[in-house]
Amino acid sequence: MNSDPLYQSCNAPEESWDSKESITYLPGFRAKGSSGGQEENVTFFTSVLKEHYTLINSETKEALTWLAKLSPNKLAEMETTGLVSPIVGTSLFDSRVSRDYHKIFQAFGLMKRVEKGAMRWYYPRNLLNLTFDLESLRIALCEPLDSLRFYLSSATLVVVPSNLVDHWKTQIERHVRPGQLRVYIWGDQKKKPSAHILAWDYDVVITTFNRLSAEWGPRKRSVIMQVHWLRVMLDEGHTLGSSLTLTNKLQMAVSLTATNRWLLTGTPTPNTPNSQLSYLQPMLKFLKEEIYGQNQKSWESGILRLFEAEMEEGKSRLLQLLKRCMISARKTDLKAIPPCIKRVTFVDFSEEHAKSYNELVETVRRNILMADWNDSSHVESLLNRKQWKFRATTIKNLRLSCCVAGHIRVTDAGEDIQDTMDILAENGVDPMSQEYALIKYYLLYGGNCMRCKEWCRLPVITPCRHLLCLDCVALDSERCTFPGCGNSYEMQSPEELARPENPNPKWPVPKDLIELQPSYKQDDWNPDWQSTSSSKVTYLVRQLKKLQETNRMIGFPCENMEVMSNELNFSSNKIYLDVPLKYCRKSMNKWSQISLEKVIVFSQFLEHIHIIEQQLTIAGIQFAGMYSPMHSSNKMKSLANFQHDPNCMALLMDGSAALGLDLSFVTHVYLMEPIWDRSMEEQVISRAHRMGAARPIHVETLAMNGTIEEQMLRFLQDGDECRRLLNEEFESNDLDGTRSFRTLHDFAESNYLAHVSFVRTNSRTEKVPSSADVFI
Ligand SMILES: [Zn+2]
Ligand SMILES: [Zn+2]
Repeated sequence: MNSDPLYQSCNAPEESWDSKESITYLPGFRAKGSSGGQEENVTFFTSVLKEHYTLINSETKEALTWLAKLSPNKLAEMETTGLVSPIVGTSLFDSRVSRDYHKIFQAFGLMKRVEKGAMRWYYPRNLLNLTFDLESLRIALCEPLDSLRFYLSSATLVVVPSNLVDHWKTQIERHVRPGQLRVYIWGDQKKKPSAHILAWDYDVVITTFNRLSAEWGPRKRSVIMQVHWLRVMLDEGHTLGSSLTLTNKLQMAVSLTATNRWLLTGTPTPNTPNSQLSYLQPMLKFLKEEIYGQNQKSWESGILRLFEAEMEEGKSRLLQLLKRCMISARKTDLKAIPPCIKRVTFVDFSEEHAKSYNELVETVRRNILMADWNDSSHVESLLNRKQWKFRATTIKNLRLSCCVAGHIRVTDAGEDIQDTMDILAENGVDPMSQEYALIKYYLLYGGNCMRCKEWCRLPVITPCRHLLCLDCVALDSERCTFPGCGNSYEMQSPEELARPENPNPKWPVPKDLIELQPSYKQDDWNPDWQSTSSSKVTYLVRQLKKLQETNRMIGFPCENMEVMSNELNFSSNKIYLDVPLKYCRKSMNKWSQISLEKVIVFSQFLEHIHIIEQQLTIAGIQFAGMYSPMHSSNKMKSLANFQHDPNCMALLMDGSAALGLDLSFVTHVYLMEPIWDRSMEEQVISRAHRMGAARPIHVETLAMNGTIEEQMLRFLQDGDECRRLLNEEFESNDLDGTRSFRTLHDFAESNYLAHVSFVRTNSRTEKVPSSADVFI
C-alpha cells in the first residue's frame, strides 16, 4: 500500500504509487525463479484480452505473438535497456503513433517510452525480483477470445411494456427516498449503454419488451446478456404470449442470467378463444420452473390436456404448481381500496339505428332458417361448427351494429331474384300483373310484412305469394301463417333430404318454400359512424355533463382570466372564475388534492370511438384519446394531458391502452359495450380501481336493450350455467365422435346467433316471443 495517506484509497490511480517503494506483486508478473503459467496470471491476461476484444485485429495479433515468443534474453532487455517495439505489418508506420496493441501492452502492465525516435517497452520501475509471466500469456492467447466477459451484478432488471416505463419511474420516485436507488432507464430509442455500466453503476435498470426483442439475434451479443443480474422482473409477464413459438422476446427473456426471476401479471390466464391456460407455459419457461417450465411435454400431458378435458387431476396439479410458484394478492385482500360499484344500463335504439341493427339480424336469421329450417348440421348454416370464422365475423358485426349504424349492400339483386320470379310465373302469376311487379319490388328493396306490418329488408315469399318477415314465417314450418291463408307447404322428410350439404337432416322441411327464396349475394356490412345517432353516446354525454357540473362546483378552472394569471405568475395559465382571487393561489398549488371527477370511456371498436369523439366535441367536453392506431408518443401525450390538465375530464381508450396504467385518480369508468373477455374488463377497471384510489369507483356498462349485447351480459353473468350447457352439448354430440364447438367462446357465439332477435322500437303488434330466454 502507498505509504502516503493521500494515496491510500481505492480510487487513487496506480501511477501515484510511491516511487521509492519496491513492488513485490503485480498482476501478469511472477517472482523470478518461480514457475510460469500461474493460474491467476492466466485469468488476468484473459480478462485484459477480453476487455480489449474490439482492438484485436491482425496487427494486434501479430504484436501479441511477437510478445509471447520473446526469448528470455530479449525479455530481460525490458528490465534494463528497453525492448524496441515490434515492427508489425508490411506497411510503413511511425512507431511514435499510438497503435491498438499499445493499449493492450499497457494494460498488461508494460510501460512505453519513446527515446531518440524509437519506441521501447519497459517493465514498471521498482519491480523487486519480478519478471513478466510469458507462459501465462501464451496460455491465455490459446483461449477463445470471443467469449464475452460476464459481469456479476447486484442490479435488478425490470422489463415493462413501453407505456409503463414512466409509471415505474414515478412509483420509484414516490416510494423511495431520493438517491437511495440508482435507476437507469433504457427505453426503445436510447443508444446502447455498456455492460459494465448496466451491471455496476445502477440498482435498477428499467427497459421495455420492445428493447428485449430488439436485443435478440442469432449472432448478436446483447449487453443485457453479459450481466448476471441479481433479479430479472417482467411486468405484465403474460405479454410473453400464448405459445412457445420462439419469438425474440421469449428467447431473450429465457436466456437472461439471473439469480432470481420474477414475473408480475394481473391476468395470468387471459380469456382467449383457444385456451385459458396457454399463456402459462411461456411464463413457467421464463421462471425456469423445474418440471413444467423446462419440459413442454410434461406440461402438456401433465396439466394442459387433463385440465382442458376437465379432469380433476389436471386441476389439482395446476393448483399445486401455482402454490409453488405464485403469490396472489387479490383486491379483496387489500382492505384499503375503496369499493368498486358496478352497474349495467340498458339503452333503447333510435328508430333509424334499430332498423340498421335489424337488417343484420335479418340476414343471420334468414341464413339459419333457410338452412333446412334451423338445422345446424347444414354446412351453410351459421350454426354449423365448420362456420366458426364466418360466425365470429357475424358476431363482431352484430356487436358493432349495436354501437354504430351501418348497411349491408345487396348487389345485383335483380339477377338473384329472377329465378324466384320465373318459378312464380310458372305457377300462374302473370308477369304483366301488378302482383308480379309488387313481389319483385319487395324482394329487391324490402317492404312491410303482410302479417305483422313490420318493415323488413329481405322478406320471405311463400308459394301462396304472401310476403312475410322472418319472425312471422318462422312461426310454422308446415303452413303459411298469413291470417286466413294456412296453405300447406310441400314437406320433405329427412330421409329424402339427405345430400352433401346436409348428410344428416334432423326434421322435415318445407321444400317449396325454401327453394323459392332468392339467394342474395351479400356484401360485407359497412359501419357508417358519421351518420349514426347513438343512444349510448347521448346517454354518456348526459352523464358527463352532470359530472362536469360537479367539477364546476369544486372550482372548475376557467380560461377567461388568462391575462390576470400571467401577472400572478402561476405555473398554470388558468385560474378559477367562481372563487375569490385570494383563494386561487392556494387552490392552484393543491391541484393534486382537489378531487375532480375524472372518467375513463372504454370501447373496443374504433368506429364507436369516432362517434364518441365527435359527440364529446360537440358537447364541449374536453377529452384525450388513447387508442390504436395512434402512435405511442401521441398516446403518451394524451395520457399526460388527462393526468395533468384539470380541464381534460375524459380519457377515451381501447384495449391497446388498458395494460398496467395507473389511473387511480379516476372516479368513473364507462364500458361502452359489454366485454366478452373478463380479463380485459378487469384490466380496464383496474386502471382506476387499484391501490392509491381514494374514492369509490363507479363502473357502468352500457348495452342496447334486446340485442346481442343483452344476450352476452346474461351469458357472462352466469358462467357456471353456461359451462353446464356446454357440457350437455358435448355429451349429446359425443355419439358421432365430434366436438361440436371448439371452445366456450365458440359455443357462446353460436348460442347468440341461434337466439338473436329483432329489436322493435315502437311495436305495432305484440312482440313475437323469442326463445332467447333459455338462460333465465
Ligand atoms: Zn311479420
Ligand atoms: Zn299464404
